[in-house]
Amino acid sequence: MQRLWSPEREAPYPLSRSRIDLFVECRRCSYLSERLGVRRPFGPSFTLNNAVDTLLKREYDRYRREQTIPPLLDRENIAAVPFDHPDLPAWRDNRRGIRFVHKESGFEVFGAIDDVWITPSGELIVVDYKATSKERGPTLDSRWGEQYKRQLEVYQWLFARNHFSVHPTAYIVYVNATTSEKQFDRTLHFEEYLFPHHGDTSWIEPTLLAMRETFLSDKVPPPSEQCEFCLYRNQARSALRSLYAKETESGTNVQ
Ligand code: SF4
Repeated sequence: MQRLWSPEREAPYPLSRSRIDLFVECRRCSYLSERLGVRRPFGPSFTLNNAVDTLLKREYDRYRREQTIPPLLDRENIAAVPFDHPDLPAWRDNRRGIRFVHKESGFEVFGAIDDVWITPSGELIVVDYKATSKERGPTLDSRWGEQYKRQLEVYQWLFARNHFSVHPTAYIVYVNATTSEKQFDRTLHFEEYLFPHHGDTSWIEPTLLAMRETFLSDKVPPPSEQCEFCLYRNQARSALRSLYAKETESGTNVQ
């Protein structure tokens, strides 16, 4: 069972980058989760995406062993190779990740990276792999895209806080499964895209402090205006309430 955030807690409270993102998206959901232990239900796991992720990691690990520039980087004139560091398996592990204790907020922030490259001058380039299937190709101009950018920025911040020199540009290696083939033939074909993102990490520490302040309060924050689920929940609650009121009046039993 996951422990809840508490002001009396002495040890730093572990906070994954996805839970920072939940706070950015909706303070109420974050409060429900960290203060009251009511977690959002898990959706189905993206096993096909995970398979692509694993294979991409394997592919880039080959260039890491050889210390050669991967073809995609070569094509884009990026002089970098996959970073060979003994802590890479830990940084990639969901339960460990790269971590930093932010004393001012009392959070131990962590995140599991996909990859990191290194330039000839020793700057680290944060990299994330994504897979999708879109007729017009992937884009970062969406709510998901904004989330991916924040993800890269938290990783950049974590590396910088761990005393690495971090390149301001991070990348998403985005592969897109095409659907123009005549038939499946038990094979998916992918086009490969590289999206640069000039990271801005200035929002992270104020967000951690805002999280602490929010959790310290007994006042539940308002729901996000963009979320359709609270709207659904409220409508469902009032519909059920009026049904129960009728049930009480008529003496029938509506479940
Ligand atoms: S608005 Fe959405 S994200 Fe926020 S509390 Fe409601 S369901 Fe959760």
